Amino acid sequence: MSKNLLSSILFFIPFLRKGTFCNGLLLLFTLFYVPQFATAASAIKINNNIYMAQGSSNISSNTFMVITNQGAVIIDTSSPAAAPQHYEMLKAVSSAPIRYIIITHGHGDHTGGIDLWKESGTQVIAQNNLIEFLDYQTRLKGFFAVRNAKQAGQPIPVISNPNPGNFAGQNPADILFDKKYQFTLGELTFQLFSTPGETPDHLSVWIPELQAAFVGDNFYNSFPNIYSLRGTKPRWALDYVQSLNKVLSWKPRLMLPSHGMPVSGNATITQKLTQYQNAILYVHDAVVAGMNAGTDVFTLMNSIQLPPDLYVGEAYGRVSWSIRGIYEGYAGWFDANPSSMYSDPPQVALSELVSLASGVDNVIQRAQEILLSSEDAVLALHLADAVLAADGNNIGGWTVRRDALVKLKSLSTNGIEKNWLQSGIDEANAKLNSP
Ligand SMILES: [Zn+2]
Repeated sequence: MSKNLLSSILFFIPFLRKGTFCNGLLLLFTLFYVPQFATAASAIKINNNIYMAQGSSNISSNTFMVITNQGAVIIDTSSPAAAPQHYEMLKAVSSAPIRYIIITHGHGDHTGGIDLWKESGTQVIAQNNLIEFLDYQTRLKGFFAVRNAKQAGQPIPVISNPNPGNFAGQNPADILFDKKYQFTLGELTFQLFSTPGETPDHLSVWIPELQAAFVGDNFYNSFPNIYSLRGTKPRWALDYVQSLNKVLSWKPRLMLPSHGMPVSGNATITQKLTQYQNAILYVHDAVVAGMNAGTDVFTLMNSIQLPPDLYVGEAYGRVSWSIRGIYEGYAGWFDANPSSMYSDPPQVALSELVSLASGVDNVIQRAQEILLSSEDAVLALHLADAVLAADGNNIGGWTVRRDALVKLKSLSTNGIEKNWLQSGIDEANAKLNSP
């Protein structure tokens, strides 16, 4: 039995016991026969008010529909690619008018279906910082188009207007708030709180009558991406900790993240959120201690590890990336080495060193030996970089670079790392196959 399948079944057991999931047994039976990575073909009933269209992966969020006797509220709208299917699945559950759309934050995998869901009279709610966050993403449209595609393992799109201006984001919100916003619809109260973490505009939703907390991307089944490799402003570790504290203070019995499955039971939710925030705090405090002791960032990346009781997995965020993200979030790019003040990159010296090593062939041979002997493939990759610094068209250099990337990909268990390695493999293959 796969771990995913087991966790899906464990999630539904409390609902089966309470009898609120009347066709749960049928669903439980069906779950045994869905492939490991398949998502549900129809909306999942969480309780009498909440339904979920499940996102397929990290690139499309879940869409939630909360149904009241005065209309429905949509929480997150998934990606442009997934939104039409989510819309169809949830509209099949209820045709109630959509009174509000709540956006947990301004990432494209959450905002992609806003236009689809918006009806006359629908109000879109977001946190104030959404405006600057959308401006920032739009300001760097060309940059992010390439980096997002590489990180997601997608083809690189052709961008017609990569530089739309400094303040060109399109604000979808009718209502913006700073710290807290509350409204009542039918029998339910919706309390929205600013909970920065994954993004500065991140919000979480608390429905006290259902004891339900919607936590967006501030919790998922992996260490968080405190630094995202596609490029991001600092995501402050202490913001995550405080935001998760706020959710814990509500004592939720149901937690609904925007990626992955809901979690039920206050004891389980408390255990998961406490472990998660303690893992973030552990890494943060270790980086801060290292910075104050004068330790360099690479030593910290190699030495700080989560203790076993705080290990929350690294299938999405990697602890080492977050260590560097926290360090450079606080300190910026200068590493206190005077040579870093100048615009000549380290590759200038690498090129010189390669010629001192009697040319590229010796370096290529050493990199190949390292790969064949199953030593550190990262070292082989750096040697390939040195060869290409000396001769950017060297076939042997590109070949050993590709082989090192393939080796690293075969060893990786992190989806983002694999996608970036594949983008390097594609680049090397394109170079090797060009006339
Ligand atoms: Zn997301």
